[in-house]
Amino acid sequence: MSTFATKNVAVLGSTGSIGTNALEVISSSDGQLQTIALSAHAKLDRLVAQARRVKPRWIVATDQVAAQNYDWASLPPETKLLVGDAGLQQVVECPDVDIVLAGIVGSAGLRSTWKALEAQKTVALANKETLVMGGQLIVQLAKECNAHIMPIDSEHSAIFQALQGGRVQEVERIVLTASGGPFRGTSPEELLQVTVSDALDHPTWDMGPKITVDSATMMNKALEIIEARWLFGVPAEQIEVVIHPQSIVHSLVEFIDGSVIAQMSSPDMKLPIQYALCHPHRQPCVVNRIDWSNPMHFDFEPPDPERFPALELGYQCARSGGTSGAVLNAANEAAVAAFLEGKIHFTEIVSACRSVLEEHLFIASPSLEELISCDDWARNEISRWVCA
Ligand code: MG
Repeated sequence: MSTFATKNVAVLGSTGSIGTNALEVISSSDGQLQTIALSAHAKLDRLVAQARRVKPRWIVATDQVAAQNYDWASLPPETKLLVGDAGLQQVVECPDVDIVLAGIVGSAGLRSTWKALEAQKTVALANKETLVMGGQLIVQLAKECNAHIMPIDSEHSAIFQALQGGRVQEVERIVLTASGGPFRGTSPEELLQVTVSDALDHPTWDMGPKITVDSATMMNKALEIIEARWLFGVPAEQIEVVIHPQSIVHSLVEFIDGSVIAQMSSPDMKLPIQYALCHPHRQPCVVNRIDWSNPMHFDFEPPDPERFPALELGYQCARSGGTSGAVLNAANEAAVAAFLEGKIHFTEIVSACRSVLEEHLFIASPSLEELISCDDWARNEISRWVCA
């Protein structure tokens, strides 16, 4: 087994799907990884239960009002409570923190990731919204601060691993795989009848509700195109999407000589989390291994752009950069929330995003503040669109 100096990990968004998987990875690392901090927004019972188990130095409750009204009596004595964005900032800036696992869902995770990069931390990034919103700025910041971003998104972890098969200038294209979600074979007419529970029933991945809906619309893949564009510095024209329903091949890199290198494993987020936290080392397997003793087959098919119009929006934003990713991301978050509340129809999620994207005043080189105000603006536009 490859050993390395113990790494202290701050798990931001610890009560979510990525956070709970991360804690499992850390607890099975034989002490190589240690949890130094946990953070959660509103699921404070779960946060305290985690703190009692892993005894971190800090927990951060980011919802200040919820934190004030909560009874913290059962918090272990060795754990200190911090509150709000200031608490997150204190954690990510602490010299004892080696890796910040950015698992806070949505655009709420942007500021803490920004602060972590400024503090020269390695950021294990599960929050794709950060790169979708501010990819250009974030990648530049990481470079200036000599901080590293390790992708946790399974496709981007696969690409990161496959890229080690050649040099960046030898890449012909990146091929992102997509499960196709539950509606891969659904006709456009049938899509009009889709309910919330249909959309939350994902065939291969077990994830939170927002990302499960994103997978059904394929907006998730659209956001991943933008994420890949910034993370790997590859233009939109060199990024392709292919549907692979088995979710075993997590993505592929094609080099100029025609060789295609893929990363394969069971669909389980614990592996990309472990890879990001332990890189450049590999640690013993924490997921089910692929069973080669049974027959199996892999399918690949191009996505139907009419069934999945979100993909074109992803390419559009990957090409134009600037504020467009922030607008698409926020519009989609608001539209998915409206869908989950029963306010709009499934097929209206992407239409609403397109219309907000068309209306927005594009800025080519935005500041962080401008990105955040575009995010606010897009959410308001979605509210107006829902009410109209
Ligand atoms: Mg993914």
